[in-house]
Amino acid sequence: MPGSPSPTERAIRPVYSVRRLPDEYVVWGISMCANPRNREIFRPRLPANRIFVMASAEIQPTSGSATDFGRFGLTKESLATAERSLLLTIDFEAFEPRLLDLWLAAMQRWAYHSAAGGWTFSIFIALEDVVRLRHERPAGYADFMEQVKTLHESGAKFYPHNHGFFDPITGLQAPYRPQRIQGYGKRASFFYDIVHRQGMDLQGWLFRLLEFYNSFLSEAGIEPPRSLTFRAGGWDHGATSEENRRYISAVSDAGFAYDTSATRGVFGTKSFHVGSPFGSNVFRLTSTLVEVAPCWALNCGAGLFSRSSLGSLRRVRSQPHVWGSRHRKGAFVTVLHFDHLFRPEDGQQDTESITPSTVVARVDRFFDLISWVNRAFRFESITFDELVIRE
Ligand SMILES: [Zn+2]
Repeated sequence: MPGSPSPTERAIRPVYSVRRLPDEYVVWGISMCANPRNREIFRPRLPANRIFVMASAEIQPTSGSATDFGRFGLTKESLATAERSLLLTIDFEAFEPRLLDLWLAAMQRWAYHSAAGGWTFSIFIALEDVVRLRHERPAGYADFMEQVKTLHESGAKFYPHNHGFFDPITGLQAPYRPQRIQGYGKRASFFYDIVHRQGMDLQGWLFRLLEFYNSFLSEAGIEPPRSLTFRAGGWDHGATSEENRRYISAVSDAGFAYDTSATRGVFGTKSFHVGSPFGSNVFRLTSTLVEVAPCWALNCGAGLFSRSSLGSLRRVRSQPHVWGSRHRKGAFVTVLHFDHLFRPEDGQQDTESITPSTVVARVDRFFDLISWVNRAFRFESITFDELVIRE
């Protein structure tokens, strides 16, 4: 209908100014930097079915973005990468044995799209959940491992992830694990559980964890990755300077090439942030360990025009190297949580009403979303195994 806004225009109008032209959308974004020399007007033009969202209301200074590793003086030099890369990382955890059929359907569809579109994912698999699934549903575990292999064949790489000590047979963790502990400035998860709750040696635990990881890889029949990478469960790498130092040396001595867990601030307050902006998120921690911190999070269970996806797109605005120049090299580390695919959407459904076909449709929708994002920002999808660091 002439003159009335399309659903697309209605969806983005509250945030952006849009003009509809015969065969294209033009979306204007004006950066509103305090410094007038940085004031720019962007006028990207794309075909009608590709909507380009450019919101640069405020470019945040990066000086306040130092991670705790930096703040505690535990970082060495900042590093560059050889390419402009998109590292799509997935926290693969909380797979409830009772939801296994949904997970299998999603994994299969995910592998299909990955192979078809050349998308590669770095999957951080929670080893306690692997052990729990094997114990609770041995038959389903075989199906699960088959899909792990399918994902691997589609280009994904599996890396270890963990939220703390678990029983080696049942995979069960401590029964009472509050996330907030008075006096502890991070979410009480990986570091807190091992060091404070269990009183264990962190490096010793990492070696044990690698044994579980290696048996997972061999049971799935997949080769170990070239570049061992760690992500601490709950983004918990310790709260104090001394704890952070201990975390870094344990991860480094356990043989990891990359860590991707850095945060800053106090969990549960406004000061808490995961990662660091694209362009300043890669830095050396030890002679053999490099931090490649997350830059961005996206809800893979949500549609493009959902509140959470639009919120994520708005958050890109504080990272001008993502959208300002499509030539800036670096590692744009994006965080996804696979279990978001199985959550009720906007309070409309409970988990029981989610079927394998709902999940498959959500996976299809996610790959549409990520294709769209990548057309706008022009990255190449790689895993940590293909990442090349320039000294
Ligand atoms: Zn996790």
